[in-house]
Amino acid sequence: MSAFDNDANSVPRLAERSYQGIRDAARSDHYQNDVAQRHRFRSRLSKSYPIHSDRESDVTTALTLPESGSPLASSWPETPPGADPLPGQLDRWLASRGAELVAVRRHIHAHPELSGQEFETAALVARELAVAGLNPRFLPKGNGVICDIGHGDRVIALRADLDALPLPDGKDVPYRSTVDGVAHACGHDVHTTILLGVGLALAQLAERDELPGRVRLIFQPAEECIPSGAPDVIDAGGLKDVAGIYALHCAPQLPVGLVGVRSGPFTAAADTVEVKLAGPGGHTARPHLTADLIHALGRVIVDVPSLLDRRVDPRAGVSMVWGRVHAGEAYNAIPGEGSIKGTVRVLNRDAWREAPELITKLVQDVVAGTGASAEVIYTRGVPPVINDRMASAIIAGAAGAALGPDRVVEAEISMGGEDFAFYLEQVPGAMIRLGTSTPGSGVKLDIHQSGFDVDERAIGYGVRVMVHTALAALSTPSL
Ligand SMILES: [Zn+2]
Ligand SMILES: [Zn+2]
Repeated sequence: MSAFDNDANSVPRLAERSYQGIRDAARSDHYQNDVAQRHRFRSRLSKSYPIHSDRESDVTTALTLPESGSPLASSWPETPPGADPLPGQLDRWLASRGAELVAVRRHIHAHPELSGQEFETAALVARELAVAGLNPRFLPKGNGVICDIGHGDRVIALRADLDALPLPDGKDVPYRSTVDGVAHACGHDVHTTILLGVGLALAQLAERDELPGRVRLIFQPAEECIPSGAPDVIDAGGLKDVAGIYALHCAPQLPVGLVGVRSGPFTAAADTVEVKLAGPGGHTARPHLTADLIHALGRVIVDVPSLLDRRVDPRAGVSMVWGRVHAGEAYNAIPGEGSIKGTVRVLNRDAWREAPELITKLVQDVVAGTGASAEVIYTRGVPPVINDRMASAIIAGAAGAALGPDRVVEAEISMGGEDFAFYLEQVPGAMIRLGTSTPGSGVKLDIHQSGFDVDERAIGYGVRVMVHTALAALSTPSL
Protein backbone atom coordinates (compact mmCIF):
# COMPACT_ATOMS: atom_id res chain seq x y z
CA MET A 1 0.00 0.00 0.00
CA SER A 2 1.00 3.55 -0.39
CA ALA A 3 1.68 3.90 3.29
CA PHE A 4 4.85 1.97 2.64
CA ASP A 5 5.64 3.90 -0.47
CA ASN A 6 8.24 6.61 -0.39
CA ASP A 7 6.80 8.91 -3.00
CA ALA A 8 4.23 10.97 -1.14
CA ASN A 9 3.40 13.06 -4.21
CA SER A 10 2.15 10.26 -6.35
CA VAL A 11 0.02 8.41 -3.83
CA PRO A 12 -2.61 9.42 -1.33
CA ARG A 13 -1.96 9.34 2.38
CA LEU A 14 -2.34 6.18 4.42
CA ALA A 15 -5.84 6.80 5.68
CA GLU A 16 -7.19 7.13 2.19
CA ARG A 17 -5.32 4.19 0.76
CA SER A 18 -5.99 1.94 3.71
CA TYR A 19 -9.64 2.63 3.53
CA GLN A 20 -9.59 2.13 -0.17
CA GLY A 21 -7.95 -1.22 0.42
CA ILE A 22 -10.80 -2.34 2.61
CA ARG A 23 -13.35 -0.92 0.25
CA ASP A 24 -11.79 -2.81 -2.61
CA ALA A 25 -11.64 -5.86 -0.46
CA ALA A 26 -15.33 -5.57 0.32
CA ARG A 27 -15.93 -6.32 -3.32
CA SER A 28 -13.61 -9.26 -3.34
CA ASP A 29 -16.49 -11.59 -4.11
CA HIS A 30 -16.57 -9.80 -7.43
CA TYR A 31 -12.84 -9.57 -8.02
CA GLN A 32 -11.79 -12.82 -6.38
CA ASN A 33 -8.35 -13.76 -7.61
CA ASP A 34 -8.03 -10.74 -9.82
CA VAL A 35 -7.64 -8.43 -6.87
CA ALA A 36 -3.90 -8.76 -6.54
CA GLN A 37 -3.42 -8.46 -10.27
CA ARG A 38 -5.54 -5.35 -10.39
CA HIS A 39 -3.66 -3.80 -7.51
CA ARG A 40 -0.42 -4.34 -9.28
CA PHE A 41 -1.42 -1.69 -11.75
CA ARG A 42 -1.74 0.75 -8.88
CA SER A 43 1.58 -0.05 -7.31
CA ARG A 44 4.52 2.28 -7.27
CA LEU A 45 5.67 0.47 -10.36
CA SER A 46 3.00 2.41 -12.22
CA LYS A 47 2.84 5.66 -10.33
CA SER A 48 0.95 7.56 -12.96
CA TYR A 49 -2.17 5.44 -12.58
CA PRO A 50 -4.94 7.60 -11.10
CA ILE A 51 -6.22 6.06 -7.90
CA HIS A 52 -8.22 8.91 -6.40
CA SER A 53 -11.34 7.92 -8.29
CA ASP A 54 -12.74 5.45 -5.79
CA ARG A 55 -12.07 7.35 -2.63
CA GLU A 56 -14.86 7.57 -0.13
CA SER A 57 -15.35 10.14 2.55
CA ASP A 58 -16.55 8.20 5.59
CA VAL A 59 -13.20 7.06 6.86
CA THR A 60 -13.54 5.65 10.36
CA THR A 61 -11.31 6.52 13.28
CA ALA A 62 -9.71 3.11 13.12
CA LEU A 63 -8.31 3.96 9.72
CA THR A 64 -7.04 7.41 10.43
CA LEU A 65 -3.33 7.99 10.37
CA PRO A 66 -2.45 9.02 13.91
CA GLU A 67 -1.31 12.53 14.76
CA SER A 68 2.32 12.65 15.67
CA GLY A 69 2.69 12.40 19.43
CA SER A 70 -0.38 10.19 19.83
CA PRO A 71 0.06 6.86 21.60
CA LEU A 72 -0.34 5.10 18.28
CA ALA A 73 2.38 7.12 16.59
CA SER A 74 4.80 6.25 19.37
CA SER A 75 3.86 2.60 19.57
CA TRP A 76 6.77 1.39 17.46
CA PRO A 77 9.40 0.21 19.92
CA GLU A 78 12.97 1.38 19.95
CA THR A 79 15.57 -1.19 18.94
CA PRO A 80 16.20 -2.96 22.25
CA PRO A 81 19.62 -2.63 23.87
CA GLY A 82 21.82 -5.61 23.05
CA ALA A 83 19.92 -6.37 19.84
CA ASP A 84 21.66 -6.82 16.50
CA PRO A 85 20.75 -4.36 13.77
CA LEU A 86 18.97 -5.62 10.67
CA PRO A 87 20.87 -5.28 7.39
CA GLY A 88 20.37 -2.44 4.97
CA GLN A 89 19.06 0.15 7.42
CA LEU A 90 15.92 -1.97 7.78
CA ASP A 91 15.49 -0.98 11.42
CA ARG A 92 15.17 2.68 10.48
CA TRP A 93 12.90 1.82 7.59
CA LEU A 94 10.63 -0.24 9.82
CA ALA A 95 10.53 2.34 12.56
CA SER A 96 9.44 5.01 10.09
CA ARG A 97 6.49 2.83 9.08
CA GLY A 98 5.52 1.52 12.49
CA ALA A 99 2.49 3.75 12.99
CA GLU A 100 1.19 2.71 9.60
CA LEU A 101 1.45 -0.97 10.46
CA VAL A 102 -0.39 -0.31 13.72
CA ALA A 103 -3.11 1.44 11.72
CA VAL A 104 -3.38 -1.65 9.49
CA ARG A 105 -3.76 -3.82 12.59
CA ARG A 106 -6.50 -1.56 13.92
CA HIS A 107 -8.25 -1.69 10.60
CA ILE A 108 -8.23 -5.48 10.51
CA HIS A 109 -9.27 -5.54 14.17
CA ALA A 110 -12.25 -3.32 13.42
CA HIS A 111 -13.28 -5.53 10.48
CA PRO A 112 -12.94 -9.10 11.73
CA GLU A 113 -13.99 -12.03 9.58
CA LEU A 114 -14.96 -15.51 10.74
CA SER A 115 -13.11 -18.67 9.77
CA GLY A 116 -13.49 -19.43 6.08
CA GLN A 117 -14.83 -15.94 5.32
CA GLU A 118 -11.54 -14.00 5.31
CA PHE A 119 -12.02 -12.57 1.82
CA GLU A 120 -11.66 -8.90 2.72
CA THR A 121 -8.68 -9.45 4.98
CA ALA A 122 -6.96 -11.57 2.32
CA ALA A 123 -7.66 -8.96 -0.34
CA LEU A 124 -6.24 -6.23 1.90
CA VAL A 125 -3.07 -8.25 2.48
CA ALA A 126 -2.70 -9.03 -1.23
CA ARG A 127 -3.14 -5.40 -2.10
CA GLU A 128 -0.50 -4.21 0.33
CA LEU A 129 1.97 -6.81 -0.91
CA ALA A 130 1.27 -6.04 -4.55
CA VAL A 131 1.79 -2.34 -4.01
CA ALA A 132 5.16 -3.18 -2.46
CA GLY A 133 6.09 -4.74 -5.80
CA LEU A 134 5.50 -8.34 -4.71
CA ASN A 135 3.45 -10.99 -6.46
CA PRO A 136 0.86 -12.38 -4.03
CA ARG A 137 -1.31 -15.34 -5.02
CA PHE A 138 -4.72 -16.08 -3.57
CA LEU A 139 -5.56 -19.55 -2.32
CA PRO A 140 -8.19 -21.24 -4.53
CA LYS A 141 -11.13 -19.98 -2.43
CA GLY A 142 -9.77 -16.42 -2.33
CA ASN A 143 -9.63 -16.22 1.47
CA GLY A 144 -5.90 -16.71 1.93
CA VAL A 145 -2.69 -15.44 0.35
CA ILE A 146 0.70 -16.91 -0.47
CA CYS A 147 3.57 -14.69 -1.54
CA ASP A 148 7.15 -15.63 -2.38
CA ILE A 149 9.95 -13.08 -2.00
CA GLY A 150 13.42 -13.50 -3.47
CA HIS A 151 14.91 -16.40 -5.41
CA GLY A 152 16.29 -19.84 -4.73
CA ASP A 153 15.33 -23.52 -4.70
CA ARG A 154 15.10 -23.71 -0.94
CA VAL A 155 12.23 -21.85 0.70
CA ILE A 156 11.75 -20.63 4.27
CA ALA A 157 8.05 -20.18 5.05
CA LEU A 158 6.50 -17.84 7.59
CA ARG A 159 2.85 -18.32 8.49
CA ALA A 160 0.12 -16.06 9.89
CA ASP A 161 -3.58 -16.79 10.39
CA LEU A 162 -6.34 -14.42 9.30
CA ASP A 163 -9.57 -15.39 11.08
CA ALA A 164 -11.48 -13.96 14.04
CA LEU A 165 -13.74 -15.63 16.62
CA PRO A 166 -17.52 -15.68 17.05
CA LEU A 167 -17.34 -13.54 20.20
CA PRO A 168 -18.57 -10.02 20.94
CA ASP A 169 -15.86 -7.37 21.24
CA GLY A 170 -16.08 -6.16 24.84
CA LYS A 171 -13.58 -3.32 24.51
CA ASP A 172 -14.21 0.41 24.41
CA VAL A 173 -11.55 1.50 21.91
CA PRO A 174 -11.72 3.34 18.57
CA TYR A 175 -10.78 0.17 16.73
CA ARG A 176 -13.45 -1.96 18.40
CA SER A 177 -15.02 -4.57 16.10
CA THR A 178 -17.65 -3.14 13.77
CA VAL A 179 -19.12 -6.61 13.21
CA ASP A 180 -21.67 -7.81 15.78
CA GLY A 181 -20.60 -10.97 17.54
CA VAL A 182 -17.22 -11.25 15.81
CA ALA A 183 -13.90 -10.22 17.35
CA HIS A 184 -10.18 -10.71 16.85
CA ALA A 185 -9.86 -12.23 20.32
CA CYS A 186 -6.99 -14.57 19.43
CA GLY A 187 -4.63 -11.90 18.07
CA HIS A 188 -4.69 -13.13 14.48
CA ASP A 189 -5.02 -9.49 13.38
CA VAL A 190 -1.63 -8.95 15.01
CA HIS A 191 -0.13 -12.06 13.37
CA THR A 192 -1.39 -10.89 9.97
CA THR A 193 -0.02 -7.38 10.45
CA ILE A 194 3.36 -8.65 11.60
CA LEU A 195 3.72 -10.98 8.61
CA LEU A 196 2.70 -8.15 6.30
CA GLY A 197 5.38 -5.96 7.88
CA VAL A 198 7.93 -8.74 7.45
CA GLY A 199 6.96 -9.06 3.79
CA LEU A 200 7.35 -5.36 3.16
CA ALA A 201 10.73 -5.34 4.92
CA LEU A 202 11.99 -8.36 2.99
CA ALA A 203 10.74 -6.80 -0.23
CA GLN A 204 13.08 -3.89 0.48
CA LEU A 205 15.99 -6.31 0.78
CA ALA A 206 14.98 -8.30 -2.29
CA GLU A 207 14.73 -5.15 -4.35
CA ARG A 208 18.37 -4.42 -3.55
CA ASP A 209 19.37 -8.05 -4.16
CA GLU A 210 20.27 -8.44 -0.50
CA LEU A 211 17.86 -11.26 0.37
CA PRO A 212 19.95 -14.45 0.48
CA GLY A 213 17.25 -16.86 -0.75
CA ARG A 214 13.49 -17.29 -1.05
CA VAL A 215 10.96 -16.57 1.71
CA ARG A 216 7.30 -17.58 1.46
CA LEU A 217 4.63 -15.67 3.35
CA ILE A 218 1.57 -17.81 4.11
CA PHE A 219 -1.56 -15.93 5.19
CA GLN A 220 -3.80 -18.81 6.15
CA PRO A 221 -7.58 -18.81 6.65
CA ALA A 222 -9.65 -20.81 9.14
CA GLU A 223 -7.28 -21.57 12.00
CA GLU A 224 -10.08 -21.48 14.57
CA CYS A 225 -12.41 -24.11 13.10
CA ILE A 226 -12.46 -27.80 12.28
CA PRO A 227 -11.67 -28.77 9.60
CA SER A 228 -9.12 -25.99 9.61
CA GLY A 229 -7.29 -24.14 6.86
CA ALA A 230 -3.71 -25.44 7.00
CA PRO A 231 -4.45 -28.63 5.01
CA ASP A 232 -5.98 -26.47 2.26
CA VAL A 233 -2.80 -24.40 2.13
CA ILE A 234 -0.73 -27.58 1.87
CA ASP A 235 -3.04 -28.96 -0.86
CA ALA A 236 -2.56 -25.69 -2.77
CA GLY A 237 1.21 -26.26 -2.82
CA GLY A 238 1.97 -23.98 0.13
CA LEU A 239 4.84 -26.20 1.31
CA LYS A 240 6.40 -26.83 -2.09
CA ASP A 241 10.19 -26.48 -1.79
CA VAL A 242 9.83 -25.41 1.87
CA ALA A 243 12.79 -26.41 4.04
CA GLY A 244 11.49 -24.91 7.27
CA ILE A 245 8.44 -23.03 8.54
CA TYR A 246 8.03 -20.55 11.40
CA ALA A 247 5.17 -18.77 13.14
CA LEU A 248 4.39 -16.81 16.28
CA HIS A 249 1.32 -16.50 18.47
CA CYS A 250 0.26 -13.67 20.76
CA ALA A 251 0.84 -14.54 24.41
CA PRO A 252 -0.78 -12.30 27.03
CA GLN A 253 1.04 -14.29 29.72
CA LEU A 254 4.27 -12.65 28.60
CA PRO A 255 5.04 -8.92 28.77
CA VAL A 256 5.56 -7.11 25.50
CA GLY A 257 9.17 -7.27 24.34
CA LEU A 258 9.65 -10.89 25.45
CA VAL A 259 9.22 -14.05 23.42
CA GLY A 260 8.80 -17.62 24.63
CA VAL A 261 10.62 -20.40 22.77
CA ARG A 262 10.64 -24.14 23.35
CA SER A 263 11.88 -27.22 21.54
CA GLY A 264 9.59 -30.25 21.41
CA PRO A 265 5.89 -30.28 22.41
CA PHE A 266 4.40 -26.77 22.27
CA THR A 267 0.62 -27.20 21.93
CA ALA A 268 -1.53 -30.29 22.23
CA ALA A 269 -3.45 -32.28 19.68
CA ALA A 270 -7.12 -31.51 20.21
CA ASP A 271 -9.72 -34.04 19.06
CA THR A 272 -13.41 -34.38 19.84
CA VAL A 273 -15.11 -37.54 21.00
CA GLU A 274 -18.84 -38.12 21.33
CA VAL A 275 -20.39 -41.28 22.78
CA LYS A 276 -24.04 -42.11 22.14
CA LEU A 277 -25.62 -44.83 24.25
CA ALA A 278 -28.94 -46.54 23.51
CA GLY A 279 -31.15 -49.05 25.34
CA PRO A 280 -34.81 -50.06 25.70
CA GLY A 281 -35.56 -47.54 28.51
CA GLY A 282 -37.88 -48.41 31.38
CA HIS A 283 -39.02 -47.84 34.97
CA THR A 284 -36.41 -46.93 37.59
CA ALA A 285 -38.06 -49.59 39.79
CA ARG A 286 -36.90 -52.35 37.43
CA PRO A 287 -33.37 -51.60 36.10
CA HIS A 288 -32.71 -55.34 35.79
CA LEU A 289 -35.32 -55.60 33.02
CA THR A 290 -33.69 -52.96 30.81
CA ALA A 291 -30.29 -51.29 30.39
CA ASP A 292 -29.68 -48.63 33.04
CA LEU A 293 -28.50 -46.00 30.64
CA ILE A 294 -27.59 -43.29 33.17
CA HIS A 295 -25.51 -45.80 35.08
CA ALA A 296 -23.79 -46.86 31.85
CA LEU A 297 -23.13 -43.23 30.92
CA GLY A 298 -21.65 -42.63 34.37
CA ARG A 299 -19.29 -45.54 33.90
CA VAL A 300 -18.12 -44.23 30.55
CA ILE A 301 -17.66 -40.75 32.00
CA VAL A 302 -15.52 -41.97 34.89
CA ASP A 303 -13.89 -45.16 33.63
CA VAL A 304 -12.79 -44.31 30.11
CA PRO A 305 -10.52 -41.35 31.02
CA SER A 306 -8.95 -43.27 33.92
CA LEU A 307 -8.43 -46.41 31.84
CA LEU A 308 -6.88 -44.24 29.14
CA ASP A 309 -4.38 -42.94 31.70
CA ARG A 310 -3.31 -46.55 32.31
CA ARG A 311 -3.09 -47.54 28.66
CA VAL A 312 -0.97 -44.63 27.35
CA ASP A 313 2.57 -43.68 28.35
CA PRO A 314 2.16 -40.96 31.02
CA ARG A 315 4.81 -38.88 29.22
CA ALA A 316 2.51 -38.58 26.20
CA GLY A 317 0.45 -35.94 28.02
CA VAL A 318 -3.02 -37.33 27.28
CA SER A 319 -5.98 -35.48 28.77
CA MET A 320 -9.58 -36.60 28.19
CA VAL A 321 -12.23 -34.25 29.62
CA TRP A 322 -15.99 -34.35 29.06
CA GLY A 323 -17.73 -31.03 28.48
CA ARG A 324 -21.33 -32.06 27.83
CA VAL A 325 -23.70 -34.75 29.00
CA HIS A 326 -27.33 -35.24 27.98
CA ALA A 327 -29.76 -37.93 29.10
CA GLY A 328 -33.19 -38.37 30.59
CA GLU A 329 -36.32 -36.34 31.32
CA ALA A 330 -38.33 -37.93 34.12
CA TYR A 331 -36.59 -38.61 37.43
CA ASN A 332 -38.25 -42.02 37.68
CA ALA A 333 -37.78 -43.28 34.12
CA ILE A 334 -34.66 -44.86 32.65
CA PRO A 335 -34.05 -43.09 29.33
CA GLY A 336 -33.62 -44.94 26.04
CA GLU A 337 -30.73 -42.78 24.87
CA GLY A 338 -28.05 -40.45 26.12
CA SER A 339 -24.82 -38.86 24.95
CA ILE A 340 -21.61 -37.35 26.22
CA LYS A 341 -19.11 -35.23 24.37
CA GLY A 342 -15.65 -34.01 25.24
CA THR A 343 -12.10 -33.41 24.10
CA VAL A 344 -8.99 -35.52 23.89
CA ARG A 345 -5.70 -33.63 24.08
CA VAL A 346 -2.33 -35.25 23.45
CA LEU A 347 1.24 -33.95 23.37
CA ASN A 348 2.76 -36.91 21.56
CA ARG A 349 2.36 -37.75 17.88
CA ASP A 350 2.31 -41.54 18.25
CA ALA A 351 -0.22 -41.44 21.07
CA TRP A 352 -2.36 -39.08 19.01
CA ARG A 353 -2.31 -41.44 16.03
CA GLU A 354 -3.40 -44.36 18.22
CA ALA A 355 -6.03 -42.48 20.24
CA PRO A 356 -9.17 -43.03 18.11
CA GLU A 357 -8.87 -46.81 18.01
CA LEU A 358 -7.89 -47.12 21.66
CA ILE A 359 -10.66 -44.86 22.97
CA THR A 360 -13.31 -46.55 20.84
CA LYS A 361 -12.26 -49.92 22.22
CA LEU A 362 -12.25 -48.67 25.83
CA VAL A 363 -15.79 -47.29 25.45
CA GLN A 364 -17.07 -50.54 23.99
CA ASP A 365 -15.37 -52.57 26.74
CA VAL A 366 -16.84 -50.39 29.51
CA VAL A 367 -20.35 -50.44 28.03
CA ALA A 368 -20.25 -54.18 27.25
CA GLY A 369 -21.50 -55.30 30.64
CA THR A 370 -24.30 -52.76 30.96
CA GLY A 371 -26.74 -54.00 28.31
CA ALA A 372 -26.64 -50.67 26.45
CA SER A 373 -25.21 -50.22 22.96
CA ALA A 374 -22.59 -47.59 22.22
CA GLU A 375 -21.65 -45.56 19.19
CA VAL A 376 -18.37 -43.62 19.29
CA ILE A 377 -17.95 -40.63 17.02
CA TYR A 378 -14.28 -39.61 17.07
CA THR A 379 -13.45 -36.42 15.18
CA ARG A 380 -9.89 -35.49 14.42
CA GLY A 381 -8.97 -31.91 15.29
CA VAL A 382 -5.35 -30.87 14.94
CA PRO A 383 -2.10 -32.74 15.61
CA PRO A 384 0.21 -31.57 18.40
CA VAL A 385 2.65 -28.79 17.57
CA ILE A 386 6.07 -30.38 18.07
CA ASN A 387 8.77 -27.78 17.53
CA ASP A 388 11.81 -29.10 15.68
CA ARG A 389 15.01 -28.91 17.72
CA MET A 390 17.09 -27.20 15.03
CA ALA A 391 14.31 -24.82 14.03
CA SER A 392 13.76 -23.92 17.70
CA ALA A 393 17.47 -23.13 18.01
CA ILE A 394 17.34 -20.94 14.91
CA ILE A 395 14.32 -18.93 16.04
CA ALA A 396 15.66 -18.65 19.60
CA GLY A 397 18.91 -17.25 18.23
CA ALA A 398 17.07 -14.92 15.89
CA ALA A 399 14.80 -13.69 18.68
CA GLY A 400 17.87 -13.06 20.82
CA ALA A 401 19.41 -11.06 17.99
CA ALA A 402 16.18 -9.15 17.43
CA LEU A 403 15.36 -8.33 21.05
CA GLY A 404 18.49 -9.01 23.07
CA PRO A 405 19.32 -12.43 24.53
CA ASP A 406 17.74 -11.76 27.93
CA ARG A 407 14.35 -11.22 26.32
CA VAL A 408 14.02 -14.82 25.16
CA VAL A 409 12.44 -17.07 27.78
CA GLU A 410 11.34 -20.68 27.83
CA ALA A 411 7.73 -21.08 26.69
CA GLU A 412 5.31 -23.22 28.64
CA ILE A 413 3.48 -26.08 26.96
CA SER A 414 -0.16 -25.28 26.19
CA MET A 415 -2.89 -27.92 26.08
CA GLY A 416 -4.70 -25.73 23.54
CA GLY A 417 -4.74 -26.75 19.87
CA GLU A 418 -3.10 -24.93 16.94
CA ASP A 419 -3.37 -26.03 13.33
CA PHE A 420 0.19 -24.89 12.59
CA ALA A 421 0.81 -28.51 13.58
CA PHE A 422 -0.30 -29.69 10.13
CA TYR A 423 2.70 -27.97 8.54
CA LEU A 424 5.02 -29.53 11.09
CA GLU A 425 3.73 -32.96 10.08
CA GLN A 426 5.33 -32.25 6.68
CA VAL A 427 8.39 -30.05 7.28
CA PRO A 428 10.48 -29.03 10.30
CA GLY A 429 9.72 -25.72 11.93
CA ALA A 430 8.83 -23.92 15.14
CA MET A 431 6.23 -21.66 16.67
CA ILE A 432 7.02 -19.15 19.41
CA ARG A 433 4.97 -17.01 21.79
CA LEU A 434 5.08 -13.25 21.41
CA GLY A 435 4.55 -11.25 24.60
CA THR A 436 1.62 -8.84 24.27
CA SER A 437 0.74 -7.58 27.74
CA THR A 438 1.68 -4.13 28.99
CA PRO A 439 4.01 -4.45 31.98
CA GLY A 440 2.36 -3.16 35.16
CA SER A 441 -1.04 -2.63 33.56
CA GLY A 442 -2.71 -5.31 35.67
CA VAL A 443 -4.98 -6.18 32.74
CA LYS A 444 -4.23 -9.64 31.46
CA LEU A 445 -7.14 -10.97 29.46
CA ASP A 446 -6.45 -14.35 27.95
CA ILE A 447 -6.84 -15.09 24.26
CA HIS A 448 -10.42 -16.12 23.43
CA GLN A 449 -11.75 -13.65 26.03
CA SER A 450 -13.96 -11.13 24.33
CA GLY A 451 -12.05 -8.07 25.55
CA PHE A 452 -8.65 -9.36 24.46
CA ASP A 453 -6.26 -6.69 23.24
CA VAL A 454 -2.51 -6.31 22.88
CA ASP A 455 0.18 -3.78 23.62
CA GLU A 456 0.78 -2.77 20.01
CA ARG A 457 4.52 -2.47 20.48
CA ALA A 458 4.34 -6.26 20.07
CA ILE A 459 3.90 -5.67 16.33
CA GLY A 460 7.30 -4.03 16.02
CA TYR A 461 8.98 -6.69 18.11
CA GLY A 462 7.24 -9.41 16.12
CA VAL A 463 8.39 -7.98 12.79
CA ARG A 464 11.98 -7.74 14.01
CA VAL A 465 11.96 -11.30 15.33
CA MET A 466 10.50 -12.80 12.16
CA VAL A 467 12.78 -10.83 9.79
CA HIS A 468 15.77 -12.01 11.82
CA THR A 469 14.36 -15.55 11.76
CA ALA A 470 13.92 -15.59 7.98
CA LEU A 471 17.46 -14.33 7.45
CA ALA A 472 18.93 -16.78 9.97
CA ALA A 473 17.05 -19.73 8.50
CA LEU A 474 18.08 -18.81 4.95
CA SER A 475 21.71 -18.79 5.98
CA THR A 476 21.46 -22.18 7.77
CA PRO A 477 21.87 -24.79 5.05
CA SER A 478 20.61 -27.68 7.16
CA LEU A 479 17.14 -26.21 7.49
ZN1 LIG B 1 -7.58 -19.03 18.95
ZN1 LIG C 1 -4.83 -18.30 17.57
